[in-house]
Amino acid sequence: VREVSRIHRIASIPGDGIGVDITDAAVEILNVLAKTIGGFEFEFTTFDWSSKKFLERGWYMPPDGLEQLKKFDAIYFGAVGWPDVPDHISLWGLILPIRKSLNQYVNVRPTRILEGTKSPLADCQREDLDWVIIRENSEGEYSGQGGTSHESSPHTVATEVSIFTRVGIERIMRFAFETARSRPRKKLTMVTKSNAQRHGMVLWDTVFYEVAKEYGDVEIDKMLVDAMTVRMVLQPKSLDTIVATNLHADILSDLAAALSGSIGIAPSSNLDPTRANPSMFEPIHGSAPDIAGKGIANPVGAFWSAAEMVRWVGEEKAADGLMKAVENVTARGVKTKDLGGGEDTKGVTKAVCQEIETLF
Ligand code: ATP
Ligand code: MG
Repeated sequence: VREVSRIHRIASIPGDGIGVDITDAAVEILNVLAKTIGGFEFEFTTFDWSSKKFLERGWYMPPDGLEQLKKFDAIYFGAVGWPDVPDHISLWGLILPIRKSLNQYVNVRPTRILEGTKSPLADCQREDLDWVIIRENSEGEYSGQGGTSHESSPHTVATEVSIFTRVGIERIMRFAFETARSRPRKKLTMVTKSNAQRHGMVLWDTVFYEVAKEYGDVEIDKMLVDAMTVRMVLQPKSLDTIVATNLHADILSDLAAALSGSIGIAPSSNLDPTRANPSMFEPIHGSAPDIAGKGIANPVGAFWSAAEMVRWVGEEKAADGLMKAVENVTARGVKTKDLGGGEDTKGVTKAVCQEIETLF
């Protein structure tokens, strides 16, 4: 009797530029993982929603696009954005509506130095940099509210309104405290700019200290975002779990990725912790038009994001195995150029596939 597999239905949106290369690589790896370990399978459905298609047909997502996505167990996303389309059009055409409409109010961005890679910081060892940034993913500076008074005049005024709600802040704080509690150091650093921004940021501070009362076992500290950039560079070891707003965490996580070796390795999980909607997994990097189509994009951020997706759908052993395979490969020096290696996307992908087959 053949054992019945657990089937995980994945919506795949490769998007633009290197998003396509790294999504292909991630799908290949995931299929090898399932086949090698056994007991589960992935069923992929690919959506051709991209800037190229937008230029042809005038839309990124069809009107029922979000409804279509809701039927899946998880969403795998490559990247969106292309020089032919203004970035605010492409972002608001695809990725931001998905995050907002599917209630993915948490964005988890872990950073650490992988085996066989190094930080650009001179004395930073692997054990000195191990962070997880919890980004508020549904409101704040990316609320999309505001307006422009005149299209083109010397007196044009534009407003960009940040919306912060107690509900929105409380739920992200709670997720951040839970994350901090689950890690060995039980330490949470909260980032704002509440000296200069006296409404929303002050509410962040207030709610942070309120929620902190429920988590007496978690060590807390508070930073202003400007000082935080300095601390990340000069005292990386003093940080563990970090919680910040949509904009601040967006910026800090690019810095974090660079400090860990390359923007090409960093993963992200857009989570609906209630599990009422599918969550979405994507590397933090963009479509990188400068290296698109050259076959040299680092697929590690895509593999790490895939591992987080595998964990989210309940395949713990496979998730750990995938990360182990990735790090065994980087440890051997099989790396792309951004990490100082000489391999291309296909070379790294093939090495990780073989490593998975060796491990299991
Ligand atoms: P977005 O607006 O979507 O965040 P971005 O304009 O910030 O995009 P990215 O696409 O993230 O830019 O890329 C910044 C630079 O980092 C690229 O030009 C590229 O050289 C490099 N880069 C990004 N991702 C990778 C990768 N996976 N492998 C190698 N290099 C990368
Ligand atoms: Mg960017």
